[in-house]
Amino acid sequence: AKACGRDRSERFDEAMRAEATRLLDLEADLRRGILQDAFEPYFQPIVRLSDGAVIGHEALLRWRHELHGILPPADFIGVGEDSGLIEQVDWLMYRKVIGMMTKLDAPGYVSINVSPRHFRSDDFVDRLMLLVDCAGADPSRLRIEITEVALLDDAPRALRMLSLLRERGVLVLLDDFGTGFSALSYLHRFPIRALKIDQSFVHGLGSDLHAESLALVRAILALASTLGIDTIAEGVETQAQRDMLDELGCQYGQGYLYGRPAPI
Ligand code: C2E
Ligand code: CA
Ligand code: CA
Ligand code: CA
Repeated sequence: AKACGRDRSERFDEAMRAEATRLLDLEADLRRGILQDAFEPYFQPIVRLSDGAVIGHEALLRWRHELHGILPPADFIGVGEDSGLIEQVDWLMYRKVIGMMTKLDAPGYVSINVSPRHFRSDDFVDRLMLLVDCAGADPSRLRIEITEVALLDDAPRALRMLSLLRERGVLVLLDDFGTGFSALSYLHRFPIRALKIDQSFVHGLGSDLHAESLALVRAILALASTLGIDTIAEGVETQAQRDMLDELGCQYGQGYLYGRPAPI
């Protein structure tokens, strides 16, 4: 039994070591990726549900890894956040997206994902607007996507930042809505252009979770309508989901039904 115990703990140590090495490798890789400027945006269309017209695109981060090919954020965002490297990656990404805005002849706006971390830094808005100015981009064609966490963290600061952005012409979309501890009680105080209904609710429509999902989507749509905020359904994959959302009064949608994220 003693030997057994030792075996187990040795195996455990080994697994820990392997995991630590993997993470270290990934962090070193990420640093190399930053030096090589190996990050690029993929774009996914956002459409009006009534007629399918494209009203904008969301820019989604991809890493062109020298060995592993194109990697989605899920593969590296954890390490990126723990090491703080994600901020550098994000700025490289934002620069690229904003630089492309003047060349893109796609209709509508381009939205970028902004993590709550950026909302803790005072110069975020200035830095972003500097990129916009330098690229000669139209700020009214840029939108930022933030989650409720960014609002709740430090509400007065978030309000200041969002107001500043709006003054500069950049509108804000509230991402993954319904998944966090909702900022319901003060949602009306923030200048928010649209709520993005989290894809978990959209996927629930027509599934085993239909009743609950329907109730939640209805509640979110009612809330948005009361506040005069637009709604974008995320993760629309089927015509049936599109039809239900349209019928419920959701204006916009995004998902594989309309197009997967793709390079420019
Ligand atoms: P998100 O902002 O909620 O983005 C939507 C995710 O859903 C994207 O995953 C997109 O590819 C995926 N998606 C779109 N339509 C469908 C669909 O019909 N079905 C399904 N199953 N999925 C769909 P992606 O590109 O892997 O991004 C994952 C997350 O990474 C994003 O979630 C966002 O939180 C984060 N992210 C993306 N770009 C950036 C960035 O530039 N900076 C930072 N910090 N985070 C980013
Ligand atoms: Ca998003
Ligand atoms: Ca989302
Ligand atoms: Ca998300």
